[in-house]
Amino acid sequence: MIEFNPEKHCLGVLCLHGHEFANTGLSLRYKHLVKGKSLGHCVQCTRGASLKFNDSHREEVRERGRKQYQANPRKKNQKCREWRKANPEKMRECVRKWRENNVDRVREIRRKWGELHPDAIKGYEHRKAERIKKRRKEDPAYVEYKRAIGRKCAAKACNALSDVYVNGVLACHTSLRTVQIPPELTKLKRIQLKALRASQAFKKGELPCQTKSQSNE
Ligand SMILES: [Zn+2]
Repeated sequence: MIEFNPEKHCLGVLCLHGHEFANTGLSLRYKHLVKGKSLGHCVQCTRGASLKFNDSHREEVRERGRKQYQANPRKKNQKCREWRKANPEKMRECVRKWRENNVDRVREIRRKWGELHPDAIKGYEHRKAERIKKRRKEDPAYVEYKRAIGRKCAAKACNALSDVYVNGVLACHTSLRTVQIPPELTKLKRIQLKALRASQAFKKGELPCQTKSQSNE
């Protein structure tokens, strides 16, 4: 849908392709006039034509963009930045889609970035180690839980829904430290986890439905 921009657009006679704007019986046209004509071009026609052109001349269009960038990177960057600022939602969606479709590229870029910035990676790993150290001091139970996962004996704790496991889950999903979690909350969380598992098992068909109507049958 084209948005009416009073600075650029005006309403004019319906174009040959019948591009009507918002049931006005008129076409949205550019204000600037083409040489020798008393009408501006229809916005929709122009857009359709330029989209078609871009599609059929993909490489050329890209090359032109590249040249424009090389000639004046600042201007181009500035424009991009402005557009991104004005359309944060579209931008996020765009990036998300690209990442989804280019998993390998993302991995490759990350790896390359890591090679180019070994100090940053070191810094990141260092900060992570410091964070773990700090947490270990403040909250040994959480670290115990994390370690259990590392050792793969977490499954045991997980199946039994032990305090360590439940508190660990709580700590992961909230800003609480495991030492701050009151036993009542642990109990509630355990009930919630049990219910969740039961519903998941039921969905998979592992659990028979035990509603009253059926147990009476
Ligand atoms: Zn038109």
